[in-house]
Amino acid sequence: MTKVNFYDTIDDSLLKFAVIISRHNGKWVFCKHKKRNTWEIPGGHRETGENILETAKRELQEETGAITFDMTPICIYSVTAPDNFNGMETFGKLFFADIHTFEEELHSEIEKIAIMDELPIDWTYSEIQPKLLEEARKRGFLPKKDAIKWLFFDIGSTLVDESKVYEDRMKKIAELSCATYEQVYECAMSFYKENKKGDLEAARQLGVKLPKWESQYERLYEDTKACLKKLSGIYKIGVIANQSLGTCERLENFGIRKYIDLVIASAEEGVSKPDRRIFEIALERSGCKPENAVMIGDRIDNDIVPAKQLGMKTIWVKQGVGSLWNITGESEKADIEIDNLSDILKYL
Ligand SMILES: [Mg+2]
Repeated sequence: MTKVNFYDTIDDSLLKFAVIISRHNGKWVFCKHKKRNTWEIPGGHRETGENILETAKRELQEETGAITFDMTPICIYSVTAPDNFNGMETFGKLFFADIHTFEEELHSEIEKIAIMDELPIDWTYSEIQPKLLEEARKRGFLPKKDAIKWLFFDIGSTLVDESKVYEDRMKKIAELSCATYEQVYECAMSFYKENKKGDLEAARQLGVKLPKWESQYERLYEDTKACLKKLSGIYKIGVIANQSLGTCERLENFGIRKYIDLVIASAEEGVSKPDRRIFEIALERSGCKPENAVMIGDRIDNDIVPAKQLGMKTIWVKQGVGSLWNITGESEKADIEIDNLSDILKYL
């Protein structure tokens, strides 16, 4: 078993290696040794008389051909493994380099370098190097937005609290059908738990027409504005929502339009969720690949399932009646489940 530990400081004489997580124009830089078919983070042994920063610079130049770069220390790491220095804990220093320019040719034991969008699958040191990257990410050296570029939000019961609208609707169903509000509520809830449209089914069961959606009762959740403000400083923000005409104006009135870069609403687009085309329109217009996008919504059927099918990442915000959905299979499982919008900040 290989153990990897991290430290902030250590006696300099113990540092035997330098490893340099390297990026160029926002992409990864990895190298491949002449004798191996796997990829590794640039790095190597400290030579006699070198300080560890000199080791890091020399190794980076030798292994990647980097000419100009900015280099920053990240932390100390150690490796303990039975087949490594007789099981003794060995120490190295981890660096981060942003490479600006490269030499034309490599002159070392490295056969080639690769500048990659995604992390490699075949690692030379698979038990060590992914952990070094994870630690660098935790320490804020690899911006989280590398993988995720766009966050797409649903509106109803995600950004906007609709509980008063549902309440109004159920009161009206009660008035029209002579049932009590409590009876209508119970009836609707039981349908929601069966993954059905509870309000519609309750109205149908009681023999009345579904009352109009009174959007004047919509209001923002308490944390919506602060949450969007914070996230819009890190990511591009989009909206993919089933809404009647005038979504942009309503978002403006709520005071959140300024945080949103792209609004894709069903009435204007002529296609609504769960149709995958509305998600495709959003991805196309944002110029974002599905794997760099996250869909955030309260509805499993409308938000999570189609976004997941397209390869977007998904966050289920368990708010409103959507939270009553019973997950019935893998295709309905979101990558992350949260109870309110603010919890997004723990993950993104
Ligand atoms: Mg919704």
